[in-house]
Amino acid sequence: MKRLIQKLTEWFLLAVNVGSYNPALIISFAAMIIHRSLFWIVIFIGAIGLHFAVQITIDSAISIRNLKAAKREFLDVETGFSLKGVDDATFFNTKDFPHILDNRRKLKEIFGNAEFIEAQANTPWLFKAHPLRVFIASKDAGGIIGGAKAYVNPRGPSLVFLAKQPDLLNATQRFVLLHELEHVSVRGAAHLTFGYGCRIWGLVGILFICSAASSWIHWVAVTVYSVEWLLKCFYVMPIMREVIADNGALLKLANEHEQRMVGSDLVEVFRDHKQALRPVPPNPKVPSFRKSGELMWRINYLEGFLKRLSPAGAAPLYFYQMTSLRFGIPYFLLFVHLAYVTRQPSVWGLGVLLTSLAVFIVAAYQVTKNAIPVNRDVNDYPGQPASPSISADGIAVDKS
Ligand SMILES: [Zn+2]
Repeated sequence: MKRLIQKLTEWFLLAVNVGSYNPALIISFAAMIIHRSLFWIVIFIGAIGLHFAVQITIDSAISIRNLKAAKREFLDVETGFSLKGVDDATFFNTKDFPHILDNRRKLKEIFGNAEFIEAQANTPWLFKAHPLRVFIASKDAGGIIGGAKAYVNPRGPSLVFLAKQPDLLNATQRFVLLHELEHVSVRGAAHLTFGYGCRIWGLVGILFICSAASSWIHWVAVTVYSVEWLLKCFYVMPIMREVIADNGALLKLANEHEQRMVGSDLVEVFRDHKQALRPVPPNPKVPSFRKSGELMWRINYLEGFLKRLSPAGAAPLYFYQMTSLRFGIPYFLLFVHLAYVTRQPSVWGLGVLLTSLAVFIVAAYQVTKNAIPVNRDVNDYPGQPASPSISADGIAVDKS
């Protein structure tokens, strides 16, 4: 019984979370259950289709953008960097990359071993890619600013470049590396995808709600949702990405002493940085609103972390808990109410949903097609030692 309640709570929270990012999904799901009409079943399938088509498009677009930047900044000969592959087993934690490994395991189960091996030979990018590749990048003149740089790739190998051998890093430099690793983990990648995805899911959802609105309460609710949507997708989520990576990195440092030292160092660095952002006469450039917001949030978070420096006070953070639970339950009630009063969506609400679905099916196809060669190219980058954490069949050995 307790187990059942726990499961139901989990499902409810999942629906609340997903609904606050993608209203059309929850409205159509609730309407399908309430009205039990074929019409709503079709719309629900359309909403699921749109959800995944947007997700696939964004994942692939991110992977193309980041890998091209990594090539331009590090991998290409013209950059002048000499790269040495690091045995990524040092950093590889299967918990950080369950998606790629799980997918492979599942595909192997579905296909069977022989077909899996054949598929691996045909599409090495998809089946053999290391979820993580780490390089030491050195250059005669000027190395990596900040000591580490990461390129998250939700559709293949994520790349991390380090200025120094990992065992030569001091605590602050190790923090920078751990911060970057948090960005490339499955949590960081999901955060990025949802951050962009909710711009589209949310917009379609707002139009869909408008098309179904029938009382002044609906209009108030959709106004509140729209304001929060703008804030969440364009301001809070990009900032939270940094705060969450700081949190993940601080928690992975060796001990309280290191956490305190690195934490107070960072507060100082960020304060200086914030000061330097002010437009001074010879440099009238106005700093971005978001950058100074980011520094403010990171400073506040770090100060809080330093104050209650204990394992209990510094729990891991997850983006959906920070961005959707607060508003999630009232939205959920609104969406279910809308579903209840809407026997059939209006023609233009339907039009918005179906048009976006069509657009994103085409986009997902086009963008994914272009992502494959870029991923393959980067994955086949030479000079890599085989990682002992990946067994011969391409499935990681759990080292924990
Ligand atoms: Zn960062």
